[in-house]
Amino acid sequence: MSKVLVFTEFQNGNLKRSSQELLQFAATTGKPVVALALGSQAKTGAAQLAHHGAQEVLLCADTAYDAYNPELFSVAAAEAIQQAGASLVLASASSSGKDLFPRVAAKIGAGVVSDGTEITVSGDDVKVKKPMYAGKCFATAQFENAATKIVLMRANQLPVAAADTSKTATITEHAFTKPSLKTLIKEVVKGASEKLDLTEANVVVSGGRGLKEAANFSMLNDLASVLGATVGASRAVVDAGWVGHSMQVGQTGKTVAPTLYIAVGISGAIQHLAGMSGSKVIVAINNDPNAPIFQKATYGIVGDAFEIVPKLTEEFKKI
Ligand code: FAD
Repeated sequence: MSKVLVFTEFQNGNLKRSSQELLQFAATTGKPVVALALGSQAKTGAAQLAHHGAQEVLLCADTAYDAYNPELFSVAAAEAIQQAGASLVLASASSSGKDLFPRVAAKIGAGVVSDGTEITVSGDDVKVKKPMYAGKCFATAQFENAATKIVLMRANQLPVAAADTSKTATITEHAFTKPSLKTLIKEVVKGASEKLDLTEANVVVSGGRGLKEAANFSMLNDLASVLGATVGASRAVVDAGWVGHSMQVGQTGKTVAPTLYIAVGISGAIQHLAGMSGSKVIVAINNDPNAPIFQKATYGIVGDAFEIVPKLTEEFKKI
């Protein structure tokens, strides 16, 4: 039977939620599930792959794979797909996923659909729902004449059940071909916001130009630390240099779909909504009752962020 290969990712030794979602979904297809795990974190975390539904693990714990390098990873992923004989490949629509898999698809002649928010698999038939035109409408994509189908799913779109620690998998250590590299990643410097990946976060508190100046983001950091949230931002404040681009949510930033998204002093331009409208509950705090963000918000608070945010932080501390 044709297999499903899941490209998995770890952060601080833990299997990312997006990979848990993909493995658990893959297990529901009824096809054998192979997890590809690259880098030294993969070795210590390999058991987690089985707990979330992998029956086979293709492991390469070489430290060369600790930092994402498209030249190296594309060869490894292409070889793994061919070795596993996978007809369906699932990966996260993260920035590295979207960089990597078009390259892999070109190498092996596969079809690729990115930014999936829903997926159905029935035999060889794979349908993927994905937003178009910055989230103004949705398309359902299907593959034609693609022996291998690659689907990149957005994080937080698929359900995750608790890990089943009784499950085991066959782990095969493998060395993939290393091409001679044109670029070498020497060091990856993570921004403060990347302690917890924005795209993986369950709660996001984002700030916009309504915060007036960079120093006022401390107010959001306080609220975020009480909620266990990650801080995001609109492009206006990124362009102003208040925070780094890794924190930008939107069409030209990151796409997030947390359980709770709190937008503070953000007007709700279509390009911002494109990156967060998949959030389950949206709370908007804005002093302009006509701000477009209120049309998307589940709950709207009209008022001054400088009064409301500290009050919210104090109230959440009591819970
Ligand atoms: P503003 O639009 O200036 O809104 C500030 C809000 O704060 C206002 O609604 C105001 O009422 C409110 N406010 C002011 N004072 C207070 C207060 N004391 N308390 C509460 N509220 C207050 N934007 C993104 O965010 N992400 C993207 O990825 C992105 N990509 C883009 C791509 C392109 C090609 C283009 C053209 C634009 C893109 N933009 C993006 C920019 C986008 O169009 C907006 O300009 C931007 O989102 C506005 O940011 P903002 O909401 O922080 O600022």
